[in-house]
Amino acid sequence: MLKAFNCDLHIHTCLSPCAELDMHPKALVQRALEQKLDIIAVSDHNASANVPYVLAAAAGKNISVIPGMEITTREEVHLLALFESPSDLTKLQSVIDRHLFGENDEARFGVQAIVNEQGEVEGLNHQLLIGATDLSIDSIVDTIHQMSGLAIPAHIDRESFSILSQLGFIDDHSRFDALEISSLTGLRQGRIQYGDLSQYPFLTSSDAHFIKDIGTSTTHILLKEPTFAELKMALLKQNGRRILE
Ligand SMILES: [Zn+2]
Ligand SMILES: [Zn+2]
Repeated sequence: MLKAFNCDLHIHTCLSPCAELDMHPKALVQRALEQKLDIIAVSDHNASANVPYVLAAAAGKNISVIPGMEITTREEVHLLALFESPSDLTKLQSVIDRHLFGENDEARFGVQAIVNEQGEVEGLNHQLLIGATDLSIDSIVDTIHQMSGLAIPAHIDRESFSILSQLGFIDDHSRFDALEISSLTGLRQGRIQYGDLSQYPFLTSSDAHFIKDIGTSTTHILLKEPTFAELKMALLKQNGRRILE
């Protein structure tokens, strides 16, 4: 039997320079449970070192965690990559690390903390995670798909770092698995505003950088169980799985 699962598929941790330090894995999972979320995706900017700790913090709890990343493309477009397994994400990370340059300026952009599931700091990331990779959107989408992941342009309605703000259009031949609409616009308004993109599934998520924001914007998705494979089926509208808009 299918049921509606409450999903927030775009959440940052304290590894993102712009996220608060209280966004550590244990606190994040705690808040997600309080918000009655069924599936969350962790998506730090160009980084993924906290994903295993969020998975550990969620182990045995009534919540599913999807490993992810929010990549900044050469065009300064934010692109979400979601995966079934952390090992696929690790493979993507090694590609990103070869194409991301510069060092973080902590005073200017913030600290990038790797924190374990107990809330202990394991280390700091010194890469310029706020920066852009030199990889094009198309090449990153290819890489994500080679690793069986989902490629989803983030917050397409936002005036910065979105595919529409940077390119002004979405190519008919693009192979995105869905488009994300920010909480400012929401799914209903998004469908009206972007009627020409009706062939794509739309998702909305919190894009939380602060604990209080987790679960403030979610998508209800009809699935058999809260897994990545089921999510993938829903985006393809297979066997009754679908996004409830
Ligand atoms: Zn973003
Ligand atoms: Zn984000």
